[in-house]
Amino acid sequence: MTTILRNGPDLESLDKRYLFHPFTALADHERTGPQVIVKGEGVWLEDAHGQRYLDGMAGLWCVNVGYGRPEIAEAIHRQALTLPYFHSFSSWATDTPILLAEKLIEMAPVPMSKVFFGQSGSDANDTQIKIVWYYNNARGKPQKKKIIARRRGYHGVTLASASLTGMPSLHSGFDLPLDFVRHTTPPYRLWEAEPGQSDADFVAKLARDLEDLILAEGPDTVGAVIMEPVMGAGGVIVPPKGYYPAIRAVLDRHDVLLIADEVISGFGRLGTMFGATAMEMQPDLISVAKGITSAYVPLSGCMVSEKVWRTIVDGQATLGVFGHGYTYSAHPLAAAAALANLDIIEKDGLVEQAGRRGAFMHERLAEAFADHPLVGDIRGHGLVGAVEFVAAKEPATRFEPSLKIAGRIVKAALAEGLITRALPHADTISFSPPFVISEDEIALMVSRARTAVDRVA
Ligand code: PLP
Repeated sequence: MTTILRNGPDLESLDKRYLFHPFTALADHERTGPQVIVKGEGVWLEDAHGQRYLDGMAGLWCVNVGYGRPEIAEAIHRQALTLPYFHSFSSWATDTPILLAEKLIEMAPVPMSKVFFGQSGSDANDTQIKIVWYYNNARGKPQKKKIIARRRGYHGVTLASASLTGMPSLHSGFDLPLDFVRHTTPPYRLWEAEPGQSDADFVAKLARDLEDLILAEGPDTVGAVIMEPVMGAGGVIVPPKGYYPAIRAVLDRHDVLLIADEVISGFGRLGTMFGATAMEMQPDLISVAKGITSAYVPLSGCMVSEKVWRTIVDGQATLGVFGHGYTYSAHPLAAAAALANLDIIEKDGLVEQAGRRGAFMHERLAEAFADHPLVGDIRGHGLVGAVEFVAAKEPATRFEPSLKIAGRIVKAALAEGLITRALPHADTISFSPPFVISEDEIALMVSRARTAVDRVA
């Protein structure tokens, strides 16, 4: 492969020599090397060879306002010149995180009281676990420490958040999950519902599974349940109507908190500002990251309800200071980027646009794939969608693991100039483009995906 160099030495060979890539087949990588992206504009990326790609995934479900937004770059520049950093430990503060916290509390989908800032979705979910534990220690229920997540849920990769993640491939090799985590059934109609089962019966079964698990563990030992409003990396799994109200009723019976992991769904992806609104979820705690800055700078947040906040404040008298925080908690530069990003989302009406473009994308996906013999399901909500492949449709039958095709389709799509992502746990390809994608670009994205499928299957 010829390497056209942008600045300086051979980037591809330097990468192979020095960079330890996340989530990468490392032996293959040593042979093939990286694809080095050097530029982005709107929904388009360019690599070091001058090849252009339509980014059908907004990076990793995160560059929601698109690449190359000068408003965010200028906000970062201004903040870096004025004050690049000061910390927020021991009552110190800087201005942009205060303004961002106010904005988030005003925007929250259910009444929330405070925001704790971090850097990534993973650390936000770790922080949520510590908040739940401290809360239950403070109210004299120290046994209430187990956290329930769902099989196929994705909540991150730190030791605790990887344990919440319900994917065996993130556990094997690392001696995970940690022992306070349990997993329940995902609302995954294709594989978890009985043939012909009504939504209401499926919801009742899912709520029963959760309640049975809580009862088997002992309600006095369960602190919280964590759920993505729509499951992302596990297969873009949209729950049936009535699911979250049924889950909430179970949790209320057993005094268990609900954490909404809005790391993908927060800030417009589902066509509402938060996924909790679209999915009728009533959380006590909300994790955000990704779309809060459209990934221009790392930032995450944990929103905390008044009930939990007040218990933590009162608990300090006996438990001592809430001994948790990152050097970069409430980073002023990240908060400046977030404020500029949220300003764009509001001024350009991008939440509504994500809803409209999402509806258009789902129509095109249905048109392109519904009649394909290997397509078992086309699903999504707002501007996130997925196409799942099956060996047979009736009854739905999975491919043998070695015969799964999503990975090969994603490679074929790349050759067509489209970036999509295989979600191997579901043999699914996913679509989560920037909200600024045009209808023509959506049509192009779907037709390139269909060409890729035709080359493979
Ligand atoms: N939660 C959800 C729902 C996610 O999709 C992700 C990442 O994809 C995370 C948490 C982890 O975020 P991060 O990769 O920023 O640690």
